[in-house]
Amino acid sequence: LEGSPLPRNMIENSMFEEEPDVVDLAKESPSYPIDSDDVVYEPRSSRLLVRGLGENDLDEEEEDYESSARLLGMSFMNRSSSQRSAAASSYTRQQPSNSCSVPSAKKMVVGILVLVIIAFVAMFIYFVPRCTFSKDGCQKTNSSIEQLYPKASNGELFPWTGLRLPASVHPVHYEISLQPNLTAMTFQGSVAISMVVLQETNKIVLHSYDMKIINSTFQDEKVNILEYKPWQQIAIKVSKELKKGEIYVLKIHYSANLSNSYDGLYNSSYIDTNGKRRVLAATQFEPLAARKAFPCFDEPAFKASFVIKITREAEYISLSNMPKVKTTPLGDGLFEDEFEKSVNMSTYLVAFVVANLSSVSKNVSNTLVSVYAVPDKKDQTHYALETVAKLLEFYNRFFEITYPLSKLDLVGIPDFLAGAMENWGLITFRETTLLIGDHSSPIDKQLVTSVIAHELAHQWFGNLVTMRWWNDLWLNEGFATYMQYMSIEEVFPELDIDNEFLSVRFKALAKDALNSSHPLSTKVYTPEEVAEMFDSVSYEKGASILLMLKATLSKVAFRKGVIEYLKRYRGLNTQSEDLWMSLSQVTNPHTDVAEMMNTWTVQKGFPLVTVNRTGIQVNLMQEHFVLNADNATDHSNLWHIPLTYVSDICNNSSSCKQVFLFKDKTATIEVSEKVKWLKFNYRSDGFYIVDYGEQGWRALIIALKENVNVLPHEDRAALINNIFALSRSDRVSFRQVLNLLVYLKNETETAPLTEALTQLNHIFMLLDKRSDLLLVSRMTVGSTIIKRLYQSWEEESSVSKQALRSALLETACHLGRPNCTNQANRLFVQWRTSNKTEHIPGDLLKTVLSVAAQTEKGWQVLLDTYKHSIYDSEKRKTLQALASTQDVRKIVWILKAALDGSEIQTPELPLVISTVCRHSAGYLHAWDFVKENWDKLTQKFSIGSFPLQSIIMSTTSQFSTKTHLDEVERFFGSLKERGSKMRSVQEAIETIKLNIQWMDRNLVTLWKWL
Ligand SMILES: [Zn+2]
Repeated sequence: LEGSPLPRNMIENSMFEEEPDVVDLAKESPSYPIDSDDVVYEPRSSRLLVRGLGENDLDEEEEDYESSARLLGMSFMNRSSSQRSAAASSYTRQQPSNSCSVPSAKKMVVGILVLVIIAFVAMFIYFVPRCTFSKDGCQKTNSSIEQLYPKASNGELFPWTGLRLPASVHPVHYEISLQPNLTAMTFQGSVAISMVVLQETNKIVLHSYDMKIINSTFQDEKVNILEYKPWQQIAIKVSKELKKGEIYVLKIHYSANLSNSYDGLYNSSYIDTNGKRRVLAATQFEPLAARKAFPCFDEPAFKASFVIKITREAEYISLSNMPKVKTTPLGDGLFEDEFEKSVNMSTYLVAFVVANLSSVSKNVSNTLVSVYAVPDKKDQTHYALETVAKLLEFYNRFFEITYPLSKLDLVGIPDFLAGAMENWGLITFRETTLLIGDHSSPIDKQLVTSVIAHELAHQWFGNLVTMRWWNDLWLNEGFATYMQYMSIEEVFPELDIDNEFLSVRFKALAKDALNSSHPLSTKVYTPEEVAEMFDSVSYEKGASILLMLKATLSKVAFRKGVIEYLKRYRGLNTQSEDLWMSLSQVTNPHTDVAEMMNTWTVQKGFPLVTVNRTGIQVNLMQEHFVLNADNATDHSNLWHIPLTYVSDICNNSSSCKQVFLFKDKTATIEVSEKVKWLKFNYRSDGFYIVDYGEQGWRALIIALKENVNVLPHEDRAALINNIFALSRSDRVSFRQVLNLLVYLKNETETAPLTEALTQLNHIFMLLDKRSDLLLVSRMTVGSTIIKRLYQSWEEESSVSKQALRSALLETACHLGRPNCTNQANRLFVQWRTSNKTEHIPGDLLKTVLSVAAQTEKGWQVLLDTYKHSIYDSEKRKTLQALASTQDVRKIVWILKAALDGSEIQTPELPLVISTVCRHSAGYLHAWDFVKENWDKLTQKFSIGSFPLQSIIMSTTSQFSTKTHLDEVERFFGSLKERGSKMRSVQEAIETIKLNIQWMDRNLVTLWKWL
């Protein structure tokens, strides 16, 4: 899926009611995440207690409730409830009799303790039957077996008790035939699944969601399908054990509605240039929605081949992962398209589209590459075609594995929630992330190129080699994000992507500094937990630590290791360890990559390195850097930091870089007495921050004031970033931050200026939302950065300079500075009176339109533009302008229109909300809107999904008072299973607490400064 800045797909609803407290406690424990493969739901609490007894190494084959039950002493469960406590104690009495000799007093104590625990387990199982956790609730049952197995929808016992599927049967091949009806918005389907038995069993369990099963056969004999809806599973029971190594075939006929949300097989629509509403059907399966389109083993490790047939009307075409082999007329104006048998792949990568689309194509190293869009937008597809052609050639060369399919389609889908989705051979996009029109700016091109580079990298990282389970999602997303920046830097150097990557690393640091962050590899289990993995940590921190590793191993060794990994695991599923192993193999002298990288993937957060110099001795100390709102500290974590530094004796060239692996709590290095200053984390390649101590900071500030070029611009930006972070955790005073910022009057590079602007903007936003008007107005005229706002409106050459200009002018106009707003108004009038032929540079468009949107007339013009524009980047900027209005009635209207999807497409709601929240006029309205419409929001964007994460953070992260903190806590607390447990809720609360702390500490300094 496409990286963070864009809303991503959603997955399904809550599956569990409240969990028992014991589970929560276990979840919070800072232990290494256990391999999710040995997590099976069945009595969930008991599994945790089993783990407590040291039995956490169950392997997959044992993932049956029976095995856990055995471990716990099945005898308890087979008794009737009235006998249970007695049974428990009799069991405890029996234990000592098994010992051969008289135990020592110490052994006795331990023994008794163990027995007490076992008794507790028994009591626990007795008091908390598994039905407590299911939506059906507890029903009166006679036998304990019924309590362990859930009831299928027909009342029979469902033969499986885990959210993860049993591993005894593995699918080999699917034959899928689908007949979507775009008028009735329904579809009929049939699937024949060939599967191989890996372990004798008498049941087959797979996924299916919300479909009506018409009939089904197993080995061509009619078979009864059992369904357990809460877990989206179906199962068949067979009377004779299935034989190991044999192939069996299950066929299912079914019907369903096209999905109304943005996943599964869903209907999408748009208005064409003639004002006519057009419909299409498209798919979005990652992570858990293939099961909405066809019954399947919907976990990434169950790879299989697919043959797909789609019936369509004459006016549409159909596309799927593979090239079409034939079309058969079926009569009644219907045709059936059949596609080639696919390569082996995970279900989440299957895709198809039925729509009226036009395309452009090109042959690239024996692959037919095409870009599809709705007919009105066909002429906007050329940029994407040229771009994907170059990147495909690059990746073919870089990975030394040729893209394995004979075709590759990129399709712009109207009304698409994710940024893009890497389906094998059929990559789907939002129109904004694929189409480039005449008026698109270089920044728009940077976005489109980034998304294409990301999705294309997935064809290797993700599609060819796939993470075994969603706990290692970062292997997919971190890598694709890293490759996206790396490939663009190589292939499109003019796009200045390195500045973008730097700011992405800063963003990842900010997220990961919160206590509510999580380790890259995190145990995930429920659909909500899987959805939450699609966040800044998996994408941006993942990419950041890969960059750090590359910088440590060298470009050449890193690439060799990556090629080794892809070749070795081609077609298979992997875990983080497998990647580290491949990378270790290519290092010379041999480095244990896993040992180093595990410190970055299995513990959350990152280190702060504190530098303390006396003469030639430089003492270093590392600790977990966490912005702590609750004063809970944990100093025990250590990282293997590939520490780098330069000094004033030698700087500004990579050869000056000194490197050593910092593994312990403290270390000492020696430098020449002549050295005036040291700068650690050269070019900010490492995922850590540094505090230089008062003396060290002073030396750096003096050096920068004399000559900004003593350090590369990445290092200057990093100093700004780090000092703000340190001030937020109260390690340096805000006064010191301001001392550093003084050097900015000589700064000309984008990265440091952008970083300073971002940090100051953040403070400004908080003050603005507190309605601290006096301070806001002083900040408006006072700040060092904002004084630079004479920046020109003329064309800028480089993309990063354009981005900077765009950010500066946006801030200036947002603050209402007359020289900015007057010029913006002039440009707008020219644009409007010339009927939009008078060009506004694309990077200024949003700023100009946002100024124009503040008048009634301007707003109406823009609304009209929004409705009729066929250029999506223009359309999006127009929408942001509309949402920046200060008129409360318009704010209310626009929020509502985006929620109901009538005049503004619902996938844009997160963008509308975040734009509204930039301004004090709309901020509280947006928060009220979220509270009032919570249930509607969670129908559109499911719990845990990225759009919902974004909405929560936009509407709460600028509060900085106790009153608002209480309100936010109260609201989310009241949601219970409707979302109160989301990580983004914890993040929101933590952020507000930190804002309050910051204000308490620094308001006075700010008053003095401004
Ligand atoms: Zn992705």
